[in-house]
Amino acid sequence: SEELKMAIGAMQLSDKTVRDVMTKINDVFMLSDTTVLNTRTVAEILKKGFTRIPVYLGDRNNVVAMLNVKDLALLDPDDNFTVGTVCRYNEHPVRFVMDDTPLRMMLDEFKKGAYHLAMVQRLAEPTEGDPHYQLTGVVTLEDILEEILQAE
Ligand code: ATP
Ligand code: ATP
Repeated sequence: SEELKMAIGAMQLSDKTVRDVMTKINDVFMLSDTTVLNTRTVAEILKKGFTRIPVYLGDRNNVVAMLNVKDLALLDPDDNFTVGTVCRYNEHPVRFVMDDTPLRMMLDEFKKGAYHLAMVQRLAEPTEGDPHYQLTGVVTLEDILEEILQAE
């Protein structure tokens, strides 16, 4: 039955980590801090259909803010505000999690309700150069619920 499948799915959360269910970084729709929010760019953003959009400074590994599409509602496209300006006004905090975070722990975190999307990162330890954090994806409650529902 569906209920049994869900119960089994919930139990199987224990072996899985955020990495197993995240949306991979190359598939994440992001915006540069410098993007100008005119009629054309706002239309493009709305067309993507995502509510939360990571905002980077310089390169995509450097996510510094989150844009919520709701922030665009009161915007006058003729003002030509940048994404950075709108983010500094709204200040949605960016949340980060390590890619080996157990799904059970991530689910409990999302259930607290303070945020709904986390940037997933891993510690890269290259043979040359310094260890550094590398973004590998995003994870939302939706990704975890899908994992629970899909269990066979
Ligand atoms: P909401 O349902 O709250 O409006 P949403 O539809 O934008 O939000 P979620 O329902 O949280 O997003 O997630 C749906 C899927 O989209 C998940 O797989 C999630 O990882 C992915 N996702 C969320 N935001 C982005 C984004 N900016 N770029 C790419 N994928 C995203
Ligand atoms: P997300 O939770 O992923 O940011 P959301 O669609 O739930 O998306 P909001 O509910 O508008 O967005 O909240 C945006 C951010 O503002 C949240 O991170 C939340 O911590 C903070 N926030 C919202 N309402 C309040 C409040 N009344 N007091 C303090 N912080 C708030």
